[in-house]
Amino acid sequence: MKVIFVVCDGLGDRPIKQLKNLTPLEAAKTPNLDKLAKNGINGLLHTIDHGIRPGSDVSHLSLFGYDTKIHYKGRGMYEALGLGMKMNKGDIAFRCNLATVKSDLTILDRRAGRIESCEPFIKELNGALINGVRFAVKAGVMHRAAIVMSGYNLSYKVSDADPHEVNTKVKKVMPLDNSKEAQFTADVLNRFIEFAHIKLKQNPLNKERSKKKLSEANYLLLRGAGYVEEVQSFFDKYKLSACCIAGAPLYKGIAKALGMDIIDIKGATGTLQTDLEAKFTAAKTALKRYDFVFVHIKATDSCGEDGNFTEKKKFIEKIDKAIKTISNLDDALIVVTADHSSPCALKAHSADPVPIVMSGEGVRVDGVIKFGERACANGGLSHIVGLNVMPEIMNLLGKTQLYGD
Ligand code: ZN
Repeated sequence: MKVIFVVCDGLGDRPIKQLKNLTPLEAAKTPNLDKLAKNGINGLLHTIDHGIRPGSDVSHLSLFGYDTKIHYKGRGMYEALGLGMKMNKGDIAFRCNLATVKSDLTILDRRAGRIESCEPFIKELNGALINGVRFAVKAGVMHRAAIVMSGYNLSYKVSDADPHEVNTKVKKVMPLDNSKEAQFTADVLNRFIEFAHIKLKQNPLNKERSKKKLSEANYLLLRGAGYVEEVQSFFDKYKLSACCIAGAPLYKGIAKALGMDIIDIKGATGTLQTDLEAKFTAAKTALKRYDFVFVHIKATDSCGEDGNFTEKKKFIEKIDKAIKTISNLDDALIVVTADHSSPCALKAHSADPVPIVMSGEGVRVDGVIKFGERACANGGLSHIVGLNVMPEIMNLLGKTQLYGD
């Protein structure tokens, strides 16, 4: 038996008055997900632990069985890997936004008017050399980019330059410990940010934007310092060949860091317009070559963070329709869950546990007949934490080593 592991980002929610006190998942018409629940074993999942409000990076590592207390070294690395950047041991990576600041460095727009692409602005920053440290810069989607610093004596123990709010001044990068390395890294970064600001201000495209009364893309807001750490690959850990089908760079980066192959799908955008049918069709095909297929779906989280419960419900119904492609496979264990809740009322991640279903040969089918936050609470998996998920899957695959004698 092989595995298709579907993570609907931020799927979990809280009851919403306008949905008759149901969550978007409970209110959505989901016959295919319900069928999986009916034929499967269900439960509630706390990706890190009870009461912990996780980021998407740590929750995915935990779902794949990697203890984040040991293995998590910042988000930057996954973003950079997800954009196809190379990272060597000792390199430090950041994610960043192309933003708009006033002359006194007050932030006017953290996303430079949600600029279509930052590529034409940041390409001349790529390759900059400051105090022997080389900066690689690569554009992501819209205003997003990633930065990799390569050189000696670097540390990821440095603060963000991004204050995460507008109408406030940008922050200087500060060392987060007393090491010489952190001080050096912070100094070099501050010089790079200053250099980038000068270059961006001079970019002729900004003169055009200014004439059109568009926000100028004149500042790099860095955050999420991370460094490369070699971890045991997913294959070495479980002896399962694995691949990833995702739109957003972070999830590709996490998969890449664990040694999974990335299957790029045209139309997999990580947005509401993503081609879900294409993703699940590709997952079905990938089962021929891989033992474990990880499918990531992003827009459920984006809807939660926008507080848009109508759109979240509609998008869940789209997922349900598309998941039909894989819901009737005889030779696969289908696991559907989320990395955390993103309740529309909070417009942020929360610690509320998320539903999980495992459906396939040999599972102890329980009495749950609907896939939802409250229905799954009555399932046979009960409450589990993220680090339990892979052991449960390995047990169902019959690949768990005997403990004791
Ligand atoms: Zn997430």
